[in-house]
Amino acid sequence: MLIKFDRRAPEQDINLILTKLNDAGSRAFRSRSNQNPVIVTTGNIDILKELNLDKINSVERIVDISTSFQLASRNFKEANTVVKVGHLEIGGDKIQVMAGPCAVESREQLFQTAQLVKACGAALLRGGAFKPRTSPYSFQGLNEYGLKLLAEARSLTGLKIVTEVMDTRSVDLVAKYADILQIGARNMQNFDLLKEVGNINKPVLLKRGAGASIEEWLTAAEYILAGGNENVILCERGVRGVNEFTRYTLDLAAVPVVKKLTHLPVIVDPSHGTGHWRYVTPMSLAAIAAGADGLIIEVHPEPEKALCDGGQSLTPKNFQALMARLATLRGIVHREFEEPKIKLQSVNMN
Ligand code: PEP
Ligand code: MN
Repeated sequence: MLIKFDRRAPEQDINLILTKLNDAGSRAFRSRSNQNPVIVTTGNIDILKELNLDKINSVERIVDISTSFQLASRNFKEANTVVKVGHLEIGGDKIQVMAGPCAVESREQLFQTAQLVKACGAALLRGGAFKPRTSPYSFQGLNEYGLKLLAEARSLTGLKIVTEVMDTRSVDLVAKYADILQIGARNMQNFDLLKEVGNINKPVLLKRGAGASIEEWLTAAEYILAGGNENVILCERGVRGVNEFTRYTLDLAAVPVVKKLTHLPVIVDPSHGTGHWRYVTPMSLAAIAAGADGLIIEVHPEPEKALCDGGQSLTPKNFQALMARLATLRGIVHREFEEPKIKLQSVNMN
């Protein structure tokens, strides 16, 4: 049960109700999420009736939500959440594309990619400085030096930065450089990490775990919202399926499902979702047609030399072609698109 107060509700009204609920044995806490003060209560809700909340002027709405995600639910907030990243909006009218290498490898690689993806219409630069690799012997990332390069690339191009934070110890460090903190699929249920990013005021990109149900994913988002950080962007990146020809099974049906269940913006990662550059363009088009608010795409100037995920990375030329094709969906999804400002030599996409 959620008790939503008027924005100007007197503190004593809120505290009185909180105390009464807790005294009566209901677990009740105040959430800092949402612009209106909110009390979230579970357990003994009979007491709510006795409190005659409907007679208290500052109580705006009582929402009965019996799901494990409450603040993330559309029942709680009807209007779409638009996450602001500086002047950019994710979940607004415009489709936003985040693009860049899987991992930051060097100054040259990053700056070259940043300039190319910007010219192709991306508004955000992706790139991991801390990499969650399956093998301990694989390239683990450049760590803080990688973050510094990302910040330099931002100064150079104006692109906003999205990069992964892997553990609670490095949240402050990553937040110092990044515009959006990415929680990777492997960490979707790292509850301490979710709590930690719930305490910061920067947007969080929450990837769906490879084995996570939609409810588990939204409940993970709830951790961040319950901490007071309303700026959560969901990212569908594929789940483990039975198909041996793609790395994961990109669950595009999750897009309209999540749009119905929550008010949060949702983007799609067709690079990890398919694991092959060849399938990235068709699945990007399908993701936007399905209602996604944006995409996160791996692009590398020389995919064959990439230290991580080269096989699923687009060349700049293929990325440029993808951006041009995406914009043809304008009249179908009634969204705005940024088109490429350059024309790289055309390539065979088959
Ligand atoms: C990534 O974005 O490079 C990444 C590791 O993604 P995921 O957590 O979805 O595997
Ligand atoms: Mn990757």
